[in-house]
Amino acid sequence: MARPRRAVGAYRAPMDRTLAADLARLPDLLEATRRAAADALATLEARPVVPPAGKPLDPEPLPEDGAGTEQALAAFQERWAPRLSASAGPRYLGFVTGGATPAALAGDWLTATHDQNSNGALDGAGQDLERETVGWLRELFHLSDAHTGTFVSGATMSNTTGLAIAREWLGERLGVSASEDGAAALGPVRVLSGAPHSSIAKALSVLGLGRRSLVPVPTLPGREAVDPAALERALADSPGPAVVVANAGTVNTVDFDDLRAVAALKERHDFWLHTDAAFGAFAALSPDHAHLADGLDASDSLCVDLHKWLNVPYDSAVQFTRRRDLQARVFQNSAAYLGPLGDHPDLVHLTPENSHRLRALAAWFTLRAYGRSGHREIVERDIACARALGERISHDPALTLLAPVRLNVVCFTLADDPTPARLTALREAVAAEAFVTPTVYGGTPALRAAFSNWRTTQADVERVAQALGSAAREIA
Ligand SMILES: *Cc1c(COP(=O)(O)O)cnc(C)c1O
Repeated sequence: MARPRRAVGAYRAPMDRTLAADLARLPDLLEATRRAAADALATLEARPVVPPAGKPLDPEPLPEDGAGTEQALAAFQERWAPRLSASAGPRYLGFVTGGATPAALAGDWLTATHDQNSNGALDGAGQDLERETVGWLRELFHLSDAHTGTFVSGATMSNTTGLAIAREWLGERLGVSASEDGAAALGPVRVLSGAPHSSIAKALSVLGLGRRSLVPVPTLPGREAVDPAALERALADSPGPAVVVANAGTVNTVDFDDLRAVAALKERHDFWLHTDAAFGAFAALSPDHAHLADGLDASDSLCVDLHKWLNVPYDSAVQFTRRRDLQARVFQNSAAYLGPLGDHPDLVHLTPENSHRLRALAAWFTLRAYGRSGHREIVERDIACARALGERISHDPALTLLAPVRLNVVCFTLADDPTPARLTALREAVAAEAFVTPTVYGGTPALRAAFSNWRTTQADVERVAQALGSAAREIA
């Protein structure tokens, strides 16, 4: 069979023609992309918050020959962009979802532009930029410099990394090494928690400790905060060292464990304290709410999400710990071509990934651009918006507020017969105006509206309250 002509003298083969043409007009293409981005953001407030579900598109075949970036952009704009949600916008109140501040967006664009794999000292200063950013975040959350931190993709990965360090600590206590000998070397493990996020069980599954290692501890009456006396009894019942997962900001009612009381139990019991403060840590930015996050620093490991309330684009979170030595034992990636571990291990030795993008840059940009006070203003405005929606709902006879608004989440339901089907109907009826997500609180099917976007104002609260109120009356 004749060899394809292109393979002859392949070393002299020219660049693909379309690719070469794109290279020649790169500035124009970036300008066209910038215009598309600016349009998407300019129409954010007017578009439906979540577009109607509609029939899924049939997948297109892989193009044999491409038509270049301009055509790809046109196809994206036509086929996919209208089907995306306005999750970057002010009335997307589902889960706990941040947007991207202007500076964070700029930082993210430049992350892709510089395309760094900043996991070690052999390549530029990327990991130093990450360390500078971690230092700023430490200050933001009032953590001491006993904590070091690393960037990961989200709070689930941050919880997983923290619990991997906890696993290694259990080994240290028991005279074995889980990272060398496997989790089975530890024997049965007890992970005690009041109202843990679902990602904790997922992390325990990934880590070979098993979802069943999670031992629920009673919460205070009518609360999602752990009962410290019940936690003490559970610790007293533990045959050996344990892991405690403290919760700083639960997703339904943003309840906080009494972090100081939990940490004080260390005087009498042997445990690793991991705190999931995915978005609750941001209470520290508001002097009126900082007491909720008081005691965060006492954690041995700590999870904070950044794509939520810091308003950087997905995906970004930070993992803090007081035991970087144990972290490096778990995640070390020894290879002749990578740097040595030493006292300041390269990032490649500290997280589940080896290669990773310069994820810290978006956080660096937004902190550099707006500082502590700018981010405090976002947090306080969101809290005020949540309070206002809570007020409106508590005065609306068609709706019932289920829990006090402690921070930035409003948990509510239909006053009349709140079945899951009727709540789905309510959610769908308001979907163009507001996106809220379902939950169950104290056995009652409910909805949550979580405020964490930098753009949200009281005018948005007004629109959401009206949409919910009139839809609830129509359903009732
Ligand atoms: C959102 C959240 C998580 C999981 O975060 P991802 O970024 O989605 O991985 C974990 N814990 C709490 C308390 C959260 O709010």
